[in-house]
Amino acid sequence: MRTCIVCEKQMDDGFLHEPSGLTFCEEKCVNEKYSREDQEDMIPDELFWTKWHDEAEESRC
Ligand SMILES: [Zn+2]
Repeated sequence: MRTCIVCEKQMDDGFLHEPSGLTFCEEKCVNEKYSREDQEDMIPDELFWTKWHDEAEESRC
C-alpha cells in the first residue's frame, strides 16, 4: 500500500515517478506536482502506472 504524495490517498496502484520515488494516485495529482513542461522533459520510462499489491514479492533480493 502506497500513499499519494499530493492528496495522501492510500492506493494499491498508481503512478510512480521512478527517479524520485514519488507516488501519485491519478493523473490529476501528477499534474499538481509536475507541470506540462516538466512532464514533457521526462523520459518515457520515468513516470509510469504500476501496482504495489504484492509487497512480499517486491522485497525479495
Ligand atoms: Zn492523489
